[in-house]
Amino acid sequence: MNSEATGLKISVSGIVQGVGFRPFVYTTATRLKLSGSVWNTSKGVEIELFGPQSDLDRFLTELTEQLPVLARIDQIESYPIPFQEVTDFSIKDSQAEEGQFLPVSPDMSICPDCLQELFDPKNRRYRYPFINCTNCGPRFSIIKNIPYDRPLTTMAEFKLCPTCQAEYDDPRNRRFHAQPVACPDCGPRVQFIVNGQIIGKFEGAISTARQFLIEGKILAIKGLGGYHLACDASNSEAVQRLRDRKKRSDRPFALMTFDLETVGKFCELNESESLVLRSPQHPIVLLQKKEECNLPEALAPTQHHLGFMLPYTPLHYLLLEPDEGFPEVLVMTSGNLSDEPIAYEDEDARERLSEIADGFLVHNRPIHMRVDDSVVRLVEQKPYFIRRSRGYAPDPILLNNEIPEILACGAELKNTFCLSRDHYAFLSHHIGDLENYETLSSFESGIQHYQKLFRIKPQSIVADLHPEYLSTKYAIDRACKEEIPLMQVQHHHAHLASCLADNHWPAGQNVIGLIFDGTGYGTDGKIWGGEVLVGSYSSIQRRFHLAETPLPGGDSAIRNPSKIALAQLASADLPWTDDLPPVQAFTSQELEILKTQLANRINCPMTTSMGRLFDAVASLIGIRQVSTYEGQAAIELENACDPAEENAYSFRLKSDTIEIAELFDHILLNLRMGISSNTIAARFHNGLAKMCLEVCQVIHEETGLQTVALSGGVWQNITLLNKTTALLRYNGFSVLQHHQVPANDGGIALGQLLVAAAAKQSN
Ligand code: ZN
Ligand code: ZN
Ligand code: FE
Repeated sequence: MNSEATGLKISVSGIVQGVGFRPFVYTTATRLKLSGSVWNTSKGVEIELFGPQSDLDRFLTELTEQLPVLARIDQIESYPIPFQEVTDFSIKDSQAEEGQFLPVSPDMSICPDCLQELFDPKNRRYRYPFINCTNCGPRFSIIKNIPYDRPLTTMAEFKLCPTCQAEYDDPRNRRFHAQPVACPDCGPRVQFIVNGQIIGKFEGAISTARQFLIEGKILAIKGLGGYHLACDASNSEAVQRLRDRKKRSDRPFALMTFDLETVGKFCELNESESLVLRSPQHPIVLLQKKEECNLPEALAPTQHHLGFMLPYTPLHYLLLEPDEGFPEVLVMTSGNLSDEPIAYEDEDARERLSEIADGFLVHNRPIHMRVDDSVVRLVEQKPYFIRRSRGYAPDPILLNNEIPEILACGAELKNTFCLSRDHYAFLSHHIGDLENYETLSSFESGIQHYQKLFRIKPQSIVADLHPEYLSTKYAIDRACKEEIPLMQVQHHHAHLASCLADNHWPAGQNVIGLIFDGTGYGTDGKIWGGEVLVGSYSSIQRRFHLAETPLPGGDSAIRNPSKIALAQLASADLPWTDDLPPVQAFTSQELEILKTQLANRINCPMTTSMGRLFDAVASLIGIRQVSTYEGQAAIELENACDPAEENAYSFRLKSDTIEIAELFDHILLNLRMGISSNTIAARFHNGLAKMCLEVCQVIHEETGLQTVALSGGVWQNITLLNKTTALLRYNGFSVLQHHQVPANDGGIALGQLLVAAAAKQSN
């Protein structure tokens, strides 16, 4: 060591454990001939380095610029320390500190190095379905507690063989401290089971499973975060059988192919879509169907998009390996009966899926936490979340500043919850619709797990304003038991705050919020959903809302666009004439009953929902009279849009109301002129975008505000999103869209959290 040698202490936090960070530090330090050591703490990673100043500087640059793929640095601090005479660089044992915590890496798809080994006949892990390394494989789904060490994962029961142990111990090996490391001698194994009997093991299990798929049978396959149900996607009978058995009427099925080229045969694929499909997260990407796509309609009835993902585990690769006569595309839908959560425990899966699946391709690596596949679309070349789960959760959302420890319980449908600590918001993986016992208990156990994993003890709880949501009831119950404060946040305020947090918007600055969704409990007890708000994290003012219309039968009307159309016509004083599709959907007797119900306001809550307006228009122009899943009519209305149409319907603004009578007048007029439903659908979308601009211009006049946040489930409509964004920007507004969390209720817990934090701050 020369005379200018000095010392440096570096503390790093972020995703720096279990992702090859210490070996990366080791190789960088030894390459630069620096001495010292690196060790994990419960807070992150600490490094002590000794050598010439210029090399220490170089080390710091390389540390941030050449990170391992799964690592993420949130904070880095360094300060000089006195030089010490140390001969080499070493990796020291972990040092735990009570109460400290670390983010945990999400589960990641198999990396290129492991994939290469998987198909290399000379490699000792050739065709081994559980190959992984520090850059890839299961993480969150197998971790029971921190620190992230093998005994605290579901890999604890597999004792490393001497060869794997040597790799695990060698800092220069790419499997150094890869906790799930395994090989055919010591790791998990696959089995194929039919009627409770094991009929295939190892390669035999996979080849029998493939034979089943060729024969059009349905398989239950244990994956990374849960079970999938699979069948040959090109076999219409198999697809229909799966639909019937799963009791899933029209909801689209996700698809998987061996490689990107095969996806390109069926769907349009641009560069950014290809990049996201192949990203380490491997989400399901919704892609535009090609005209010549010959896959069965039953995969995604009436849809213009198909959800594709690429294999993300070595087992998927072996299962889908191309071969003469083997299906090019598999259905890979979540392993559940409709509305239930995805199965992930073996016994439970066998019980619940045995009526659906003809065979089970399983393995003996337990899944500790179930994680569904994530679903995205691409907006402005970036992922736009429909569902944020595997590959992304439990990565925290970074906040502008530190906030207290709070639990936000989310909404009812597409539930996620959120827990905060320091400047992190841990938005959970997708839980599902909190409508049954199974989903509720996975919500409760999920919260317990996150609290333990991230060492969070909530000081307060926040929930939706809706008194009947199971998440609200849970929150009230828990706040009572633990004697901690409870706050209830209005649904659309939470949506707005979620979009603001998603964009790191500063506290205390108001924006215009165009918050459009299906349902949210209003401060007046009515069902809101077409809301133009002015506000920020701390408060909102409801500046405009869609005209109130009755919702005959309450929430059940959601399945019945024709009922909604008739109710909205009636409230616009327009007659139910026989030429209208929603009128034709009922018998004259049913029409009489509905008329009486509306006239006497029997079980007719009032709503300003934008989702219901989409339902009404879809029904009126003959697109859909009965929905089998939430949002179906709206999706089909979007699909119907003629992209070349430029005309727009108008909405009249009257004090705080966005009137719809004129809209219906115009639609009926066009309908009777014989104008196509594609043109009408486009004029409706164009009209909404124009209305968005108009309300923003009015508010700009009043307040000077020029930033607009777009949140709520309606903004999953990409046609409307793009039209509105373009129009607003063209007129000088800046637009905040969602990037990190869904615009739908899957992102709402983040907003609740921030509203609660803002309320605490001002107290
Ligand atoms: Zn790997
Ligand atoms: Zn081994
Ligand atoms: Fe909502």
